[in-house]
Amino acid sequence: MKALSFIKRSSDSHWVGNGFPVRNIFSYRDLARELSPFVLMDYAGPTAFEPTDERRGVEAHPHRGFETVTLVYAGGVSHRDSGGGGGTIGTGDVQWMTAGSGVVHEEFHSPEYARRGGPFEMVQLWVNLPAKDKMTRPAYQGITDAQIPRVALPDGAGTLRVIAGEHDAANGPARTFTPMNVWDMKLNAGHDVNLELVEGHTTALFVLNGTIRIGKKRVGAAGLAVMERAGTELAFHVAEDATVLLLSGEPIEEPIAARGPFVMNTQEEITQTIHDYQAGRFGRM
Ligand code: MN
Repeated sequence: MKALSFIKRSSDSHWVGNGFPVRNIFSYRDLARELSPFVLMDYAGPTAFEPTDERRGVEAHPHRGFETVTLVYAGGVSHRDSGGGGGTIGTGDVQWMTAGSGVVHEEFHSPEYARRGGPFEMVQLWVNLPAKDKMTRPAYQGITDAQIPRVALPDGAGTLRVIAGEHDAANGPARTFTPMNVWDMKLNAGHDVNLELVEGHTTALFVLNGTIRIGKKRVGAAGLAVMERAGTELAFHVAEDATVLLLSGEPIEEPIAARGPFVMNTQEEITQTIHDYQAGRFGRM
């Protein structure tokens, strides 16, 4: 049985561009070692935007050395990058972008959502790449809700969408560089949930809404529960109807040197990255 290591509650709140009011749930600044291969998570909303014809979001900016994974829970996001990737994702869809050797991209509310307005809720996760893959060619996977398998949990406890990895013979559509599970769960109050994970893998539960109980500890909205790596069985109780994102993966046991939108292994690589970006080697939109 996996034991609870600690719970992190985030109160920080800031804007990314003019489109994303986010709470930083964790980053390479605080939990790089504990949460590897995951290096950062921002949680935008839940909030609501008024209808507008304006473009709301974040202008062109670079990334290198990792992947950005955007999960839309409500609203719509459009993306365009210098690697030629791009697309619009809506509620239930996922964008898995490999920055690899470097992209410049922009992230905006989709024009359709901006005109309609209404609820907005999104998670952006950064997934590290191992040193040997940091300079891989940029790539873009647009994953629709319909492509994500849904598994019913026993006894009506809820449903689990397999975005990446595998659960109960269902395989997630996301292609990843290292083994991981990213599962989106909608859970019903009063049930116990038991999940099988891989021994030694990092495991964390992020509660978007509702409340779960791990042993005697309650985890509510915007709380992150980080489990011990030892053990394969994850067990918790659903105290109130909940939406929970499970992150689990093989830790990448390599040093991290990160600065802003760049995640590399050494300070020299960060210096080189900044030089390459300023020299225009990440391409243009
Ligand atoms: Mn970005």
